[in-house]
Amino acid sequence: MTATTKKGLIFDIQENIEYDNKIRTFIYLKGCALNCLWCANPEGQNHKLECTHIQDLCDKCKECITNCNKKAIKYTEDGFPVFNRKICKTCEKYNCKENCSTENIRLSGKYITANELLNYFEEIKKSNWAGITISGGEPLLQPDFVREVVNLCSAKKISINLETAGYFNWEKVRDFIDKFDSIYYDLKILDSFLHKQLTGKENKIILRNLKKLAKNNADKITLTIPVIRSINASPEMFDEIAKLCLKLKIRKTKLLPYHTNGIKKYYELGRFYALPFAVPPSDEEIKALTSIMQNNNIACEVI
Ligand code: SF4
Ligand code: SF4
Repeated sequence: MTATTKKGLIFDIQENIEYDNKIRTFIYLKGCALNCLWCANPEGQNHKLECTHIQDLCDKCKECITNCNKKAIKYTEDGFPVFNRKICKTCEKYNCKENCSTENIRLSGKYITANELLNYFEEIKKSNWAGITISGGEPLLQPDFVREVVNLCSAKKISINLETAGYFNWEKVRDFIDKFDSIYYDLKILDSFLHKQLTGKENKIILRNLKKLAKNNADKITLTIPVIRSINASPEMFDEIAKLCLKLKIRKTKLLPYHTNGIKKYYELGRFYALPFAVPPSDEEIKALTSIMQNNNIACEVI
């Protein structure tokens, strides 16, 4: 196998995900330029190692406090540790984790090379295994690592899918982006001002990259749209998205109804969840939005 040099920072590998009726392995890369308020994978947002703390399991032994050489931990009146995340940012030792008897302090993030990943795929491959999906975070913010994974997968004839939020530097990925077998491309909100309010960035780069990508890859793209009531579940926006799909010759969409499965992770990372009052769309709303796509001859599934 060709020697690979770039280390990727990942936060999870999930082996047996059923997707489009096949089993795929998902690799989640750490780091994203967006900061979507509803993000279900907040541990994917920062490109750095982070400690998580699961309070339910903590037995308040205070070993972490005693062993933190940076004095970053205080404890609450009821005895639970509270981490000063600004200090933790500069940590290199993670003595708190090493000394936690209940193993409830964990490190989110791991560096890995493309060769190590490929060796791992060889071990877990099963007969019904369809390949891998590179997701995140935003995987294309680690282009040198992803390029090596893509090239190794191509050489081994391993199918490789991409999940992207679209906010990346086109020039850094243009030499390999056509090599993905399929691409799930997030489009969250069409209004740029609202996009910035809710994700931290305008959507110009996302739309520009989508147009460039669709030139050669329209048939590989599935547009993935999170659906959040009172935020983007509007028929008007879906009408506009349908027009955009037709213009770019994209014929597949998937709707991702809002859910709250990721909230606990915010607290484990010492962060607050900024969208506590959002609610999932009703079945009727989802049906109406799906119909808009289907009436335009655009396939539309709900995950
Ligand atoms: S991550 Fe480092 S600085 Fe933060 S609590 Fe643990 S040992 Fe201390
Ligand atoms: S070492 Fe672990 S179990 Fe003990 S107080 Fe710290 S987090 Fe809780």
